[in-house]
Amino acid sequence: MNTIRSVSDMQQWACATREAGRRIAFVPTMGFLHEGHLALMREGKGRGDYLVVSIFVNPTQFGAGEDYQDYPRDLEGDTEKVSSVGGDIIFAPSAKEMYPSGYQTFVAVEKVTQNLCGASRPAHFQGVTTVVAKLFNIVKPQVAIFGEKDYQQLVTIRQMTRDLNFDIEIIGMPTIREEDGLAMSSRNKYLSSEERKQALCLFNALNQVEKLFQGGEKNPKKLIDRAAEIIRVQPAADIDYVKVCHPETIEDLERIDDKALMALAVKIGKTRLIDNRVLKN
Ligand code: AMP
Repeated sequence: MNTIRSVSDMQQWACATREAGRRIAFVPTMGFLHEGHLALMREGKGRGDYLVVSIFVNPTQFGAGEDYQDYPRDLEGDTEKVSSVGGDIIFAPSAKEMYPSGYQTFVAVEKVTQNLCGASRPAHFQGVTTVVAKLFNIVKPQVAIFGEKDYQQLVTIRQMTRDLNFDIEIIGMPTIREEDGLAMSSRNKYLSSEERKQALCLFNALNQVEKLFQGGEKNPKKLIDRAAEIIRVQPAADIDYVKVCHPETIEDLERIDDKALMALAVKIGKTRLIDNRVLKN
């Protein structure tokens, strides 16, 4: 396995690989890898001749006062993990390599980024789409794999890929969870052991809402109230949003006809966690 740090080396490898008629599968990440990332990589292995994993903590998707500096990093550990699932290339550029001085171009997807995390983290999705568009042009994959844990991000990437005519198949993969149900996240590392217990309220809320929904409750407000009630019991929990929206447009729903996305963002202490569930009959 090789680690590539420069954009031009990565592009050269990608061009040569495509000229040889080979298929490149790509998993973009911010590193500090866990089983959720590895599941995407295993899927990528099955879908391409070569698997490229990028590890880049992207400064443009963090707002002022967010955890860009503190975001956990462990390139050595990550390299072992990528190697353990048969990855071929790690692309790990510096921030300077990706955004050299004088950089001034950004990609913005308009509508699906307005609600949920887009409302609470202005410019977050513009940072995500900008870096993913750049990575697509650098890694030149035929297929890229993303997690449904970041549901709005996946919808946004699909939209950008369609709108900008990237000739790339986008695959979404289900959320991988800890044994007790907490969605795996690099940010779980921030949680104290007491907070770790309280963090389970996100998964519990989704389960209770699913039960209500399957029992016939189709009123979003009732579902939201129930989820919020469960989360608020935890003293360390501070709700950013609890919403029911359309799974494709990401607009708030007044009533649920067919299916809906329940999306949660909750601060547990200082750590902001997200989770979601698609509710369908
Ligand atoms: P990140 O490193 O957090 O930017 O995530 C990189 C990719 O891994 C994104 O496509 C995420 O949606 C995905 N991902 C993160 N956590 C999980 C998880 N628990 N299960 C499945 N995919 C995940």
